Amino acid sequence: MKFKVKNLDLLNFHENIGCQKGCPVGTNAWKYISLINLGKYTEAFRIAREPNPFASICGRICTHPCEVNCRKGDFGNPISIKALKRLAEEHSKDTEPYLKQRIKYKEKIAVIGGGPSGLTAAYYLQKRGYQVTVFESTSTLGGMLWLGVPEYRLPREIIQKDIEFILSTGMDVRLNTPLNSNYTLEDIKKEGFETIFIAVGTQKGKELNVEGKDFDGVFNGIDFLLNVNKGYQVKVGSKVIVVGGGNVALDVARTVLRQNTNNNNSSVSEEAQAAVDAARTALRLGAKEVHIMCVESRGEMPATGWEIQEAEKEGIIIHNSCSLKKIIGEKGKVLGIETLSVKSVFDANGVFNPILIPKTENILYCDTVIMAVGQKPELDFLNSDSNIKLNLNGTIKINEEHYQTTESNVFAGGDVAFGPRNVIQAVADGKKAADSIHLMLSEKRGEKEEILPVKTIKAVCHQQFEFKPNYHKIKRQDASTLSLDRRIGISEVEQCFTIEQGIAESNRCLRCQIYTVFNSDTCILCGGCVDICPTSCLSIVDFDQVENVELKKTFISINSNKFENKQKLCSILKDDTQCIQCGQCFRRCPVNAISMESFEFI
Ligand SMILES: Cc1cc2nc3c(=O)[nH]c(=O)nc-3n(C[C@H](O)[C@H](O)[C@H](O)COP(=O)(O)OP(=O)(O)OC[C@H]3O[C@@H](n4cnc5c(N)ncnc54)[C@H](O)[C@@H]3O)c2cc1C
Repeated sequence: MKFKVKNLDLLNFHENIGCQKGCPVGTNAWKYISLINLGKYTEAFRIAREPNPFASICGRICTHPCEVNCRKGDFGNPISIKALKRLAEEHSKDTEPYLKQRIKYKEKIAVIGGGPSGLTAAYYLQKRGYQVTVFESTSTLGGMLWLGVPEYRLPREIIQKDIEFILSTGMDVRLNTPLNSNYTLEDIKKEGFETIFIAVGTQKGKELNVEGKDFDGVFNGIDFLLNVNKGYQVKVGSKVIVVGGGNVALDVARTVLRQNTNNNNSSVSEEAQAAVDAARTALRLGAKEVHIMCVESRGEMPATGWEIQEAEKEGIIIHNSCSLKKIIGEKGKVLGIETLSVKSVFDANGVFNPILIPKTENILYCDTVIMAVGQKPELDFLNSDSNIKLNLNGTIKINEEHYQTTESNVFAGGDVAFGPRNVIQAVADGKKAADSIHLMLSEKRGEKEEILPVKTIKAVCHQQFEFKPNYHKIKRQDASTLSLDRRIGISEVEQCFTIEQGIAESNRCLRCQIYTVFNSDTCILCGGCVDICPTSCLSIVDFDQVENVELKKTFISINSNKFENKQKLCSILKDDTQCIQCGQCFRRCPVNAISMESFEFI
């Protein structure tokens, strides 16, 4: 048997820290988890906020790619990293605003769009010493966080908290200032903004071109959420069907349930509250119906599993593998939808290409249809003769490494460049675009500056070993949710961890930043470490079985004197994917040839 091995370098150590590798902004999640474990919430939250000015928001609604990459997932369930971030945020005493930055550079930079991507770019540019002006079309900053995400998932004071922190760097903000065909990018350039970052998101809901789409009672999903979030009264009927299977469709469906209860609640006295609550609970138990239909099967739905479960708990009925054939109606009003069953959604190359099953028509009756089938950008502020090129789907074409559009002084990022994605990606885009803008301007000023820290790996290494007995046996903690009868209006559904839950969960962390380092000069190849390893990640093999030639040369040169009398040379191999950092090998070693060292990458 042959073993393929690789020489370890800093990159390998870094790759092993799954949470940091998975996070688009490289958050040192393991570090704030360790601090939470010590009860140091303020320090923990500062670590979370260092690479991400939207850290409070991410503690609530992040799609948490860190958890998908968490190595603990290979041994059961990943760490509840998002919930731990929220715990740190809620217990942090860090109320000090960020100090206003000194302006070092004379170039004026415009950011178009005050969503997560635009504000992140503005924040990091401002921190570098540029004066940034944010142009925002609405009366509030936050973009889809405010306009799209419902309040029962993201309380508005949390958005406010992150935005105040961002604004404390001293950027100029022009609210209610949309760029459009009357106030274009060229107009902004004439005002002296020579460098521009476009981050206007995808604000327009797509429409399906089906028969009946203009009947009364047919809404666009994004417009519906925008109106509810802006506080307008939106009247929907008693049986609603939401078309679409992503998170937006789920947000629409769950908002409809709350909207119905809101409509009934226009002038409720305090005495009547209990009766209204009871009536609402009865409504939620079946008097009013909300359905979601989507072409995808359950496993293919582009919404997170947790959101689907919560929607179903709230009484929403999901119809999978259905395609909308037409909307049926009478006298201009919706009566229902006609569907066809779906055989498959994606082709062999994974491209969206639904195959429908003929003669499987089915009618679902309803009085409201809400279409949540995707979003696209609105870019009427680009002149028809603009040098800025678009992709086929209407997003802005950029160089994905530098975020530069086809016009060199204009950059773009977030949803307007990549299509609808998520907050942490939008933040990462804003941050990387800020670095690229600074690099371009530094070069123009004739300054040489080493930047783009996103790709730099600087390791700080120190010996440190902490071991929580039986930590690998502790069960994953999940945040509790509000009971169904209290899910009314804007009440937040997901709750914060208790301190005890936080400690238990942080004890589960594998501490992937800690590495076992072997000293081949001291090692006597006794095999004690191999015997004690609980996951069998260590093995001693004949040297001939090792396939990496380069490593063999190094190894032989180090060990040939020591083992020259032995017939066979041996090698200790470690399978990093199986290591749980328990430290048993380190404690067992009779000659201290193993140390546990912690690497921090910045
Ligand atoms: C209903 C819904 C639920 C979501 N849920 C989640 C979730 O749970 N987790 C998650 O991570 N992501 C979620 N997302 C996605 C997330 O909100 C977006 O990916 C993110 O906000 C994109 O950031 P952005 O800055 O690129 O664009 P946006 O957030 O869209 O911000 C764009 C900003 O530009 C402004 N603007 C637009 N046009 C102009 C103009 N012409 N002139 C000036 N200003 C303009 C807009 O008013 C807005 O403020 C959700 C999105 C929606 C719609």
